[in-house]
Amino acid sequence: MIRRQSVLVIGGGSVGLAVAALLGSGDHAEALQVVLLEPRSIPKWDPKHIDLRVYALSRASQWMLQQIGAWHHISEARVSPYRRMRVWESSPISGLGSLDFDSADIGEPDLGHIVEDVLLREALLRRLEVLPNVELRLGLGLDKIEVGPRDVRVTTGNGEILSGNLLIAADGSDSRVRTLLGLSVSGASYDQKAIVAHVGTRKEHMETAWQRFLKTGPLAFLPLTDGRSSVVWSMSSQHADSLLEQSSKKFINQLEVASEGILGGVDSVSARVSFKLRVMHSRRYCCPRVALVGDAAHIVHPLAGQGMNMGFLDAVEIVDVIENALNRGEDPGDLRTLRRYERNRKGENLKMLLALDGLNRFFRFPGISLLRVAGLSVVNAASPVKRALMREALGLSK
Ligand SMILES: Cc1cc2nc3c(=O)[nH]c(=O)nc-3n(C[C@H](O)[C@H](O)[C@H](O)COP(=O)(O)OP(=O)(O)OC[C@H]3O[C@@H](n4cnc5c(N)ncnc54)[C@H](O)[C@@H]3O)c2cc1C
Repeated sequence: MIRRQSVLVIGGGSVGLAVAALLGSGDHAEALQVVLLEPRSIPKWDPKHIDLRVYALSRASQWMLQQIGAWHHISEARVSPYRRMRVWESSPISGLGSLDFDSADIGEPDLGHIVEDVLLREALLRRLEVLPNVELRLGLGLDKIEVGPRDVRVTTGNGEILSGNLLIAADGSDSRVRTLLGLSVSGASYDQKAIVAHVGTRKEHMETAWQRFLKTGPLAFLPLTDGRSSVVWSMSSQHADSLLEQSSKKFINQLEVASEGILGGVDSVSARVSFKLRVMHSRRYCCPRVALVGDAAHIVHPLAGQGMNMGFLDAVEIVDVIENALNRGEDPGDLRTLRRYERNRKGENLKMLLALDGLNRFFRFPGISLLRVAGLSVVNAASPVKRALMREALGLSK
């Protein structure tokens, strides 16, 4: 008889849900018992209302969601493909200082999809509900953790004790698991906030993601299915706080100036919310019997919409490492096993984190505007470089 390995997944954001779904539907599903703890209740997607939180998901993320069996639900409900992308900085020389990407140039139908947070979590939860070896414990969070030589025990918010051979921490940027285990991090606050809102514009978005780099921070317009765009506008925290207090009319005026009226002007704005921005990287992604995934391990600037995509790649890798260990009859919670996951993901995530951090600083740095304009124009003229960048962003570079 096979001895079942039990895995505790802490956190039911999209990354934790994806880990549980991959484990529960993979080759070793029968050899695993998965328990997922999440303090929030089941999200309910509203077909009449586009969630304010949306993500630009890459092709690699789409494939993972297809593998899990969740993409079908998402694409039937509502997704917005983006087929082109324009990145620009205000240029003193007309026609220069922009970079245009088109999915047709690499023979792909699109560059990715804009997906709503609530819909993504609902689709993943629907899959989990039908997987017999996954137990969902919603409304419950982890309070304490104790790591032993053969197992890991957690105490939930209601005093219940659960144990497993392995724990995967997907409990987000302020990870309680990471803190309780004393796993140190490096990073800093950007003293920036991102304002997020949906806006109606006079011109069509043409299924294009628009991104302007301003000295105060990047501003993006992501296309939505109802013709509006989701704005993600990063700026100093002080500026964001004052903009959030202003009337819709004043906010729209400032947004039109910041976007150079790229979509013919803005004529409506939804509710506005803001997110504090910081960069963080955990020095270790694992310790005996525990692995960190998603924002629990790394936080990046949202300027290229990569945080969730990176978390999904973590999910695929940790499950791959666990399944390979089971194939060899090894203990999946052993530190030597978990180090393989760390080796395969930490360097990749660090590269992305540094690139995004560098871009954010580069475009905010005063005095080198001409250099930036020239840089964007040179890349724009170099088709092979552009194609390589697009393949990288789609997760097709391997
Ligand atoms: C403005 C903005 C725009 C972004 N846009 C994009 C984008 O376009 N594309 C993209 O790829 N990424 C984007 N990101 C990044 C993305 O939001 C994150 O990387 C992603 O949400 C991380 O998912 P996660 O599941 O790791 O963490 P979270 O989504 O934070 O989930 C963590 C979960 O853990 C639970 N939890 C917390 N404490 C406990 C506990 N003690 N016990 C049990 N559970 C617990 C929480 O309730 C939560 O459900 C953006 C980020 C921001 C701020």
